[in-house]
Amino acid sequence: MAIEFRGMTELAANDKKIGKLTAYPKWCKGCGICVGFCPTNTLVLENGKMRIAQPELCIKCRICEKLCPDYAVYFTEEDVTGDV
Ligand code: SF4
Ligand code: SF4
Repeated sequence: MAIEFRGMTELAANDKKIGKLTAYPKWCKGCGICVGFCPTNTLVLENGKMRIAQPELCIKCRICEKLCPDYAVYFTEEDVTGDV
């Protein structure tokens, strides 16, 4: 399932100050929410844990970060101003 959050994704894709997508598998309970809502199929569920399978597809919409109930996927505070 992939749901498009059009306004949100376009807004976020233009924000070059969002840092690096990071997973913390120890906190992941494998609920699959982030995988289901990611609009670009960046994430997969594998052996009961989420894995960032195709980071190059991520548009930095931050939906996964907002929806994860366990803070197991997040963006670093790293400043990546410039081309992303
Ligand atoms: S920020 Fe998360 S939900 Fe959005 S594209 Fe990247 S991996 Fe998918
Ligand atoms: S939403 Fe959070 S807990 Fe659920 S699969 Fe994704 S990273 Fe794991």
